[in-house]
Amino acid sequence: MASTPRGRVAVIGAGPAGMATALSVHQAGHEVVLLERYPRARAAGNILNLWPPPIKALGLMGVDTDDLGSPCHTEFRNTAGRRRVSVELPDDIVRDYGGGFIGLLRPALYERLLAALPPGVLQVDRAVERLEQDETGVRLHMAGGDVHECDVVVGADGIDSLVRRTLWGEAPKREHNLHIFGGFTLAEDIDAPRNQCVLTHSRTVQGAWTSIRHQGRDGYQWWVLSAHDAREEFTGDLHAAATALAREFPSPLPQLIAATDPASVQRWLLRDRKPLKQWSKGRATLAGDAAHPTSPYAAYGAGMATEDGYFIGRRLAGVDLRDHAAVRTALQAYEDPRKPHTARQSQQAFVLGKVFHHAPKPLQVVRDLILDHTPLLQKAVGESSPGEIIKQITEIDTAERAFRTALGRTDG
Ligand SMILES: Cc1cc2nc3c(=O)[nH]c(=O)nc-3n(C[C@H](O)[C@H](O)[C@H](O)COP(=O)(O)OP(=O)(O)OC[C@H]3O[C@@H](n4cnc5c(N)ncnc54)[C@H](O)[C@@H]3O)c2cc1C
Repeated sequence: MASTPRGRVAVIGAGPAGMATALSVHQAGHEVVLLERYPRARAAGNILNLWPPPIKALGLMGVDTDDLGSPCHTEFRNTAGRRRVSVELPDDIVRDYGGGFIGLLRPALYERLLAALPPGVLQVDRAVERLEQDETGVRLHMAGGDVHECDVVVGADGIDSLVRRTLWGEAPKREHNLHIFGGFTLAEDIDAPRNQCVLTHSRTVQGAWTSIRHQGRDGYQWWVLSAHDAREEFTGDLHAAATALAREFPSPLPQLIAATDPASVQRWLLRDRKPLKQWSKGRATLAGDAAHPTSPYAAYGAGMATEDGYFIGRRLAGVDLRDHAAVRTALQAYEDPRKPHTARQSQQAFVLGKVFHHAPKPLQVVRDLILDHTPLLQKAVGESSPGEIIKQITEIDTAERAFRTALGRTDG
């Protein structure tokens, strides 16, 4: 074990980014606290899919990923069933990570992350109200009136991040003027294919379903997504609205929605913020949606948040956190490769939302002809984007080797 002194790291927010950061920083040998404003780390939402890189990072951070979800092959189709995209992943990745895209329910990810956290790391009912820093350290002013001192702070506090605002000022949210209804069913009598994630687009609506595994049971999750003016309040019945949007879609989507308990249906508005040029300042950095708020259209926000947390811990291994210059170098080395990757995924999600749901009526016909008869979408969404995501596996391998060296480990 290298003789670097233990530093003190505070992570704000116990979502996927915060829990992953806490795990990775703990493995790096530093003292870490995870401060969550609510009485527990709660999964806001139900439906989720994870790509292989976050699954790999979770495993390396000691999270049990065994039977976490259902491996799925992903396709895009039109409403007549014509395939527009087959998401291609290398065979070895599919073999090593139990399939391409893993379908699960969000609370299961939280349970597994929480189970891996060492006792005492998570502190709940601990809202941070204000922070300040200088070259010697960071002071967090807590809602209870006390002050928490640390060497490094990680803002993993979501799309409305206090840390981001403190470091870089206010920036408006970018409304996508889309809303999504999502739900799931674990009913046993569903007659639908397993191990598939199928995203179907009509002229204006996306309807999708994917198989899931949840606590040892097979099931399905689904979502329907359409244009909606973000300024207009939605007062309708969620299950009825989802049923109506899915009416023009092929089986099994309408059947899955019909089989879903209305209490399991949720709705979200889609929004993000434009990418930041710089995340870290002094002894503070950002992770997850705080750094790169990502719309659900990407289906990768929690995945990127998990990767961020993993990379932060790996970069802080072997660093003397009292040394201001060393901290700055480590945090910069963390964010530099993360920025282009995360910005690309968030921006692609924004653009796809525009193309599929905000195209003027006359252009919709032309768009669909192009998507049905050219390889454009296959190249962008079926090959280029998953290729970018899978590259993260190599980055993780490289980071893991450096991490072992920093800790003076020669095993494995
Ligand atoms: C419908 C939907 C579907 C999605 N599907 C997918 C998918 O398939 N795959 C995928 O990878 N991603 C998906 N996402 C995106 C993903 O959910 C988010 O990107 C992810 O939750 C971001 O994680 P985070 O940890 O950065 O932030 P959050 O999950 O928002 O967590 C932030 C935490 O910080 C806490 N906090 C905030 N302020 C403070 C404070 N001042 N003091 C203390 N605590 C604070 C909050 O209470 C919260 O616990 C989806 C999102 C939605 C809405």
